[in-house]
Amino acid sequence: MASIFTKIVKGEIPSYKIAEDELFYAFLDINPLAKGHTLVIPKKEVDYIFDLDDNLLKGLSLFTKKVAKAIEKSVPCKRIGVAVLGLEVPHAHIHLVPLNSEQDINFENPKLKFTQEEFCDIADRIRKELA
Ligand code: AMP
Repeated sequence: MASIFTKIVKGEIPSYKIAEDELFYAFLDINPLAKGHTLVIPKKEVDYIFDLDDNLLKGLSLFTKKVAKAIEKSVPCKRIGVAVLGLEVPHAHIHLVPLNSEQDINFENPKLKFTQEEFCDIADRIRKELA
């Protein structure tokens, strides 16, 4: 069965899209640790990030870098933290989390709640920095 992220890529379930190209897709995490928390995925459904072939992993890193720079300009933060867990969704993804302190990337923190309008506004602001 297709992963939830494959369904997002295909538009079968909605997402707050940040960026997309032929191979990669970035969207806001629906249970964010911080405002601007974004997931970056390869469109190809591979569970474990270190099973991606070298070129795809390289491409994912470069695509992630572009998205991270845009988040950094859109959300007040000291820098963008990077994490790979993959314990919940078996489709490789990189978490980008705006950081003001180390505690901001503690996945045991309660997740933030935003309205649909707030999610849209955050996504818009990040997208503008990519344009
Ligand atoms: P993990 O696999 O442990 O890296 O966690 C998966 C992440 O995907 C969690 O932070 C979830 O909040 C996030 N997530 C799950 N479903 C969705 C969705 N439909 N849209 C956006 N983010 C999601």
